Parts: sequence; C-alpha cells; structure tokens
Amino acid sequence: MTEPAFAPARTRVAPSPTGDPHVGTAYMALFDLAWARKTGGAFVLRIEDTDRARLVEGSEQQIFDSLKWLGLGYDEGPDVGGEHGPYRQSERLETYRPFVDQLLADGHAYYCWCSSERLAELRAEQQASKQSVTGYDRRCLGLTREQRAELPGFSEAPVVRMLVPDDIELDFDDIIRGRVRAPRPDDQVILKADGFPTYHLAVVVDDHLMGITTVVRGEEWISSTPKHVLLYRWLGFEMPQFAHMPLLRNENKSKISKRKNPAARLLWFREQGYLPEALRNFLQLLAYPPVVEDDGSEREVVSFEEFIEGFDWTRINTVGPIFDVKKLDWLNGLYIRNLPTDELAERIIEHQLHTGAWAEVDDATRELVRRATPLVSQRMTLLGDAAPAMAFLMSPDDDLVLDEAAVASLNDDATQVLEAGIAALEGLDDFTAEPIQAALRAALVEGLGQKPKFAFAPLRVGVSGAKVSPPLFESMEILGKDSTVARLRRLLATLGGGAG
Ligand code: GLU
Repeated sequence: MTEPAFAPARTRVAPSPTGDPHVGTAYMALFDLAWARKTGGAFVLRIEDTDRARLVEGSEQQIFDSLKWLGLGYDEGPDVGGEHGPYRQSERLETYRPFVDQLLADGHAYYCWCSSERLAELRAEQQASKQSVTGYDRRCLGLTREQRAELPGFSEAPVVRMLVPDDIELDFDDIIRGRVRAPRPDDQVILKADGFPTYHLAVVVDDHLMGITTVVRGEEWISSTPKHVLLYRWLGFEMPQFAHMPLLRNENKSKISKRKNPAARLLWFREQGYLPEALRNFLQLLAYPPVVEDDGSEREVVSFEEFIEGFDWTRINTVGPIFDVKKLDWLNGLYIRNLPTDELAERIIEHQLHTGAWAEVDDATRELVRRATPLVSQRMTLLGDAAPAMAFLMSPDDDLVLDEAAVASLNDDATQVLEAGIAALEGLDDFTAEPIQAALRAALVEGLGQKPKFAFAPLRVGVSGAKVSPPLFESMEILGKDSTVARLRRLLATLGGGAG
C-alpha cells in the first residue's frame, strides 16, 4: 500500500460578519477548500463575531449563501454543524476564560485598568514626541486593583493583556513565504472589559480546539502571528502551519476595498450576472499560475478539480495580484458559451429572479427563454445581457417599441420589401428558420432584385424594433407566423403603406 502524500489537513476561513462579505473571504476559502480536498481533510467556516460594535445584521447569512453559491461549501460551520462547534465565537465565551486564567496564573498575562481616555492620551503623547517605543507602557503591570485605583486614569472594568517578553521570537515559518519576520508587538489585549476575547486569543484557542492544521489568511495578519506563536507556546498547543496569502490589488496597486471598488463585494458578482464557476476559475488564477500543457502552452480555463489535483502552496506568488475585471468578463463569456443551452436558460432565469428584474416566470416565458437562449448567447458577457436582448420576443406585438432612428434609416422601397416579405411568409407551411430564409431570399433578393443587406433591414426592424438584433430567421421561427406577420404589417402601417 502506498502512503498518502499528505496528512489530512483541517483548514478554516474565519470572517467577521461586519458587512456584506469581502471577495477576499472567497479567495481564502478557495485555497482552504483546495487544500482540504487535496489532503482528504476538512474545511471549516468559523464566524468571528467578538467585535460586537461592528456586527451587521444579515452579514452572517450573506457569508453562508455566497460561499455556497460559489461552490465553496464547508464541511463544518454554524449552519451545517460539526463535531467542533459551536462555530460562532460569541457562543464560545466560556471556552476562552480558562485559558485566560491559565495565562494569568503563569505570569504570561496581567490585568490592566487603564481607562480608554488614558490610553488615548498615551498614544497622543507617543505620537507627538515621535518616540521609537510605542504601545502600552505597562502602567498596570505588577499592581493590585487597589494600588492601581489610587492612580489617575483608572477604570472599573479591567482588560487582560499578554506580557510580551523581550526575547519574543519574531520569525516564523510560512508555507508560502518561507521564513518571515514581523515587527515587535506590544502587550496585546486578549480579554476585553466586556468579557469577550479579542481576535488574537480567540483565533488561537479556536484554531487549536477545532484541530486546524493550516491557517490560511491574508498577509495583513503577518504582524499578528508572533503574538499567536507566543500564545501557542504558553498554552502548550501544537503549532499549525501558516499560509499568508497576498492581498488582492486594484489596477493602481492599492489594496482592494469595498469602499472604493464594487468588485471587493462578494455579492456584487452574483448581482452582475457572473457565473460562480467563472469567478472561481478567476480567483484560482490570482497569484497562482495557469496550467502548463505538454507542449509548453498555458491554459487559464481550469476546473476546480484540476486545480486541486495540481495544488501546491509554493507556487503561490507573493506579489499582490491585480484584480482585473476584464479578464473575469472574458472568462465569464467563455463559461456562458460552454453551458448546455437548457442550463444557461435556467441560469438566465435565476439571475432575473435573483436581481428582482422579474418577479416570477411562467411556463411560457421559461420555454421562450429556452428557445431564445442560443440566439443571444454568443454576445453575452454577463447573465443579465440576455433578457434585454430577448425582450423583443416577449413583447406583445402591438407594444413592441420601434426604434425611431431604425425606422428612419430604412430605404424608400421598404414598403415594397415588407409587402413582398409578408406575402412570402404567409404562404409558408413550415415556419422554421431555413424555409423562412429560403422563401424570403427568393421573394426579395431574386424576386425584387434587392441586395441581401437591404432586403432584410425592414424585416429586422419590423420584427425586433431595432436595427441590430439576434439572428432574424430564428427569431421569426420563435415568434411564429402570426406574430411575425402582424409585426411586419404594423411597421408597414407606420411607414404609411399596406392599406387594406
Ligand atoms: N476574523 C479575521 C478576519 O476577518 C480572521 C483572520 C484569520 O483568518 O486569522 O480576517
């Protein structure tokens, strides 16, 4: 029997529900899931909701929904359960306290009663005097509550701080970056006055208790890692592997943020009509190389399975990748055209319903979308491009808007063309695209001696209301003979012809 190549990894993504989810959460989740699948391990979702002031109602549900929409479902999490729950930090408060007590008893942590006013003053002083040493000045270290209460800037409810030793190790191993060095931290708060742990304590305790073997997160957390390493040591926990992913960047290299870039919002992609598989493929290519074929050529369209198969942490480029929406558009178009027609039609409908553009769909509309989808798919970039392109097929004949410029652009002999076209179509028994085309060619090109380019223009305007439309004969087939003829007559009447 061959040994498995890797021990099963447990990975997690740990977003804070402080607004609609950031695209970075999906980016982390993608690599988390890939590694868990590659090693036969598990991927966990943990909700880090200890910062009570920043909670946003509904944000958690958006995290659940958008990860699942993207195909990045988790094996354990608040809404799916699991052996290591609860998976919301706010439901684990009693879990953290004993570890705080242990750190206090071992002299690795101390109470701090400094008021927020005093801390603000301290910060201001340090900034004004441009001191090289910043951070907490250890006013409370070694004092009892009574002793501290005698001094100014005392607050009733204390926090607990880590006592960061002088010889703290600032280097750690990262499976993407190798040996990494972070700046020296100050005496970090681990338990807040409201009894909630801070991120630093909770993340270490939870990653340990949840059996996380590989901590994947953004590079902005590198500076926090030495504090976490200390806590792992002090608490006697086995150290996980760290993987700090590069930050996603805008074209001007700035960090992608929800305030400045709509694409930083994970929900935006679904609203816009991107396919989840296209977005996932796009995220796979951020800081990660495409597949190299046997002949040396590169391929960017890569399934998630294939990505997992070849996945290797050391291939991640630590230079922050540019988030290029144009490339995503290109991928989305490709994925759209690769979908079977019926599947694409369903996605188009789902998109219309999701955005609220359509309140409901009846069977007739569903069937119409299914038939019209092959006519519009070639020009689609986003799912939302389909409905406007097929709207003329759904309009009642009498309500079809005739574009004024399109009508005005028609030649003088348009009435003659329309009359001959109508006569040809009325005589057709098999009202499908090929016979329609043959009959119209015979009547207009051969019969009237029109150039094809001019022959069909009045018909197109009559049927679609516009100068440019999806394929004409196929559109007529979908409309059917009665509707097609009615539309042509209507244009004829508008042009002042066809009396009687
Ligand atoms: N709650 C942190 C965040 O929202 C998690 C960081 C980590 O993965 O350790 O980014």
